This record gives sequence, structure tokens and C-alpha cells, in this order.
Amino acid sequence: MSAPEAVVGLEIHLRVATRTKLFCGCPVTFGAPPNTACCPVCLGHPGALPVLNAAALEKGLRLAAALGFEVPELVSFDRKSYGYPDLPKGYQITQLDRPLGRRGQLAYETADGRTAGLRLVRLHLEEDAARSEHSPHESRLDFNRAGVPLLEIVTAPDLRSPGDAVRAARAIREIARAVGASGAALERGEMRVEPNVNVRGADGAVTPITEVKNLGSFAALRGAIRFEIERQTAVLADETGSRREGRTTRGWDEEREETVLQRRKEAEAQYRYFPEPDLPPVRIDPALLERLAAELPELPAVRRKRLRVDHGLPETDAAILAAEPGLAAAFEATRALGVPAREAAGWWLGDVRKALRQRDLDLGDRSDLATGLGRLAARVSDGSLPRVVARELLARALDEDRDPEALLEERGRADRPTPEELARAVEAAMGALPEATAAVAGGKEAALGPLVGEVLRRTGGRADPRTARDALLRTIPRPG
Ligand SMILES: [Zn+2]
Repeated sequence: MSAPEAVVGLEIHLRVATRTKLFCGCPVTFGAPPNTACCPVCLGHPGALPVLNAAALEKGLRLAAALGFEVPELVSFDRKSYGYPDLPKGYQITQLDRPLGRRGQLAYETADGRTAGLRLVRLHLEEDAARSEHSPHESRLDFNRAGVPLLEIVTAPDLRSPGDAVRAARAIREIARAVGASGAALERGEMRVEPNVNVRGADGAVTPITEVKNLGSFAALRGAIRFEIERQTAVLADETGSRREGRTTRGWDEEREETVLQRRKEAEAQYRYFPEPDLPPVRIDPALLERLAAELPELPAVRRKRLRVDHGLPETDAAILAAEPGLAAAFEATRALGVPAREAAGWWLGDVRKALRQRDLDLGDRSDLATGLGRLAARVSDGSLPRVVARELLARALDEDRDPEALLEERGRADRPTPEELARAVEAAMGALPEATAAVAGGKEAALGPLVGEVLRRTGGRADPRTARDALLRTIPRPG
């Protein structure tokens, strides 16, 4: 008998990158003291009226355009009722019948490098719930998150493996970031993924669908799907009827690496959906859709291919750069300064990315530094700045929030080598590179490059290339 086949679909929640909440003017915060960003609207006080955040709608439409969704002429909102402490109104405002988009399409790359398609069923806007915190003796609620705008994407169950599910989720994340719809930082709770998993046997028998809630990392997504496939494959083989238990919702236990039953799934009718009476339907201007489609930036898959073809980058480098628009732009700007692709990639993907990560930063947070950092890479490349010094300047630029070139200039002024130091560095460089020295002595000035680099290294980058060059020419005996 052939192995059972996994059937996987995803529900992805993305926090929309807006300053304020979906239906009120409260700021969207991260890490602010609890209950400091709420008002009567997002606390659900009687009589408070929601007003739709136009920026959230526009960002949603931008994502719809990037994912090829069909956007209806009229979109509208609905109430989804359920009683839960984190839902102050007793219902959530979401979209049921007329969402932002239907029938979208995602192209993502599979493990063997093929391009696969994933049908996207719908895209809608909704508000987030409050955050609850449970301890043995009490439960606390933080309403800062209540009313924060979310975009939900529901995919068709076209995925067949944990790996493809992760790759598809990553592709959606990259696109959402590229179009500015969401920061989609999982570690900040800006993206949550909920896979629907079931297993189909060779004889056509299927297990009930399980939904795993609230996964906040790609590792959890991969682990939860893998676990469910194994668990349900066993259910399929079990003849006692456990496969007829019905749809269930499960949670992911990170430590034990297994899913745990949470509840039997409510039927939609129990949510008592009905049109939101306080929000009129919104007519979507076709001209706006056209403009948003025309303004779409280069999407990651296209960019990845271009980085590979135009710059000859290896696939992994191209993929990392393509996922980070800011980094890709910085890389290309550095290439434009004449830095070879390998060196530019080494600087941005190695040194800069590591330094940013150590400080928990994104290049987007420091995009003003990109030009200066690119120039440092160019100096390293032409041999006028030792790499260790460039790294040190990079660290200082990030820590002190200063322009790296200004730091470099300051460093040069404050700390030029004395003539004695320079002379010692020149002697040492000549000793270290006897062949180059002999070539220069023989009249070949082109051989000076490595010697200049060596002098700069030996002065810790404090000598400038011209001074080093002159000192070498003065010191090395030459014909004529
Ligand atoms: Zn509010």
C-alpha cells in the first residue's frame, strides 16, 4: 500500500503595518505598558462607533494586488459573535461575505527549486483580540492589542508536506513585507500561522481536519504539521472509528513537540455572523486598484531571479537578499560603486547582517546608514580600508547612530600615525611582501597595491592610502 498523503492548507494572520488601530485612533504599540493604548471604541463601551482606518484598507488592497486577488466592487464587514474575555464587545468585526479578495494565487519555490502554485481562497481584514496572560492564581487582560488590524489569508489545501507549507508561508511573508502591508515579524507576533491538516489514505479514506492554532514560528509550523501527519496516519490505520471524531482544534506544545487537543470545532452557525450595522459597505474605486497594481514594487521571487542572473549570486544569497528589500537595495547600490558581487554580498550578508542581528535591528530601522556603509565596503574592496576597521566602524555607526563615513574621517584626523609609526609599517610591509617589493624596486609601480594594503593594515587603517603610497615610494629603492 502506498503511503498516505497529507493535505495541508494555511490560515495566515498578518498584523497590518498601520500607526493606529482598525476602527479607532489608538496607536498600535509593541511592548507598551498594558492597557495604555485603548479607548471606548476598542474597549467596546456601549454607544462607541467604529470608523474604518483607510490606511489599513489600502495596505490590504496592496497585498490583494500583489497576490492576484479578485477584489469586489463592494467590501463589507460582519460581526462574528463569541463570548470570550479577550473580546470586549462580545463579537469581533471581520469580513464574511464580501472580503477584500477572493481567488488569489501564490507562486513559491519547492525544495527542489521548482515553482509551485498555491491557490488562495480569500483575504480579509479583521480586528485582533486583547492579549490574555494566565498565571496559577489570576488572569490578566491587556487591551492594547484589541482592535489592531489584521489581514487574514486562507489558502486552499494544496500543500502536501511540512516543508512546502513553510516555504509557502515564507513566500507570503516576503510579499507582505515587500509591499509594506505588514512587517510580518514572527518574533513580534506580527504573523501567526494556523495549518489545517488531514491525511488521505490510498483507499480514499480521510481523517478529520485538524486546525493547529496560533503558531508563531516557522519551526513550530513545520513541527506541528509533521506531528499531525504522523498522528493522523496512525488514526487512519486504526479501525476502531477514531477517524470519525470530527473537526478539532489543537494547540502546539513547544517543549514536548506535539499537538494537544483544545476543542471540537464550532460550526460557523454558532458564531451568528451578521452584517456589521455600524460600518457601511465600502465601494472600491477601480482607479485606486489600478494605481496600487501599477505601484507594486518588484516582488521577491522576481528579485531573487534577477539577483542570481544579473549579479551571479548563489541561490542562498539571492534568496536572503530578495527577502529583505532594504538589504537588496543596499547590495545593488554597493555593486554600482564597482564592488564585485562576492565582496558586496560578503559585506551585506555577512558583516552587516550579523551586526544588525546582534543588536536586534533591521536594516529598515537604519536605512539612513545604508549609503555610508556601502561606501565602507567600496573602500575595503579597493584596499584603502582594512576589513577589521570597517567592521569596527560598522559597529560604532549602529551603536552611536552616526554616519560611518563621518566616523572614518574623525578617526583619521584624530589618530594619524606618526612618521615613525608609518616608517615602521612600511618596513614591515616590505618585509612581509618581498616579491611585491622587488617588483616595485624593478620599476613596476602596479605592484604597489598589496603593499599599500599591508601598510594600512599595520597602521590599523589610520594611514590614508595616498600617504602610505608616497612613503613606500620614498623608501623602496628604484631605478632612475
Ligand atoms: Zn481605541
